[in-house]
Amino acid sequence: MQKWSFQESMSCVLCGGGVENRQHLFVLCPFARQILDALFTGPMQVPQFQTWEAMVSWLLEKYNKQVEEAETWRFIWQTWISHTWRERCRRLYGDKVRGSQELISGMKAEIVYVLGRDRVN
Ligand SMILES: [Zn+2]
Repeated sequence: MQKWSFQESMSCVLCGGGVENRQHLFVLCPFARQILDALFTGPMQVPQFQTWEAMVSWLLEKYNKQVEEAETWRFIWQTWISHTWRERCRRLYGDKVRGSQELISGMKAEIVYVLGRDRVN
């Protein structure tokens, strides 16, 4: 990410702490994690990981074991990744900042619209 932009500070624009890199943004960032926890609840709860590789490995295993739920997992995961990245870019380039609750509501609405209410917790 450092190579792609001209940020003066490389701290995370979502939480204000940590050096912004893939591992921070999608594994360690408390702001992104709060959203992840709101999307994956109950039996879908995602453990806390320390590395990107550990998270991806866990996800792949989950996808392979729970074939019937894989599409749901994949879509929710993609929604979280893409919205988190878009919010990061929005903040980086000075657009309106959205809080975690606004982001969660938007993501949940998109997930329900695509997957249907019965497939979402
Ligand atoms: Zn952060």
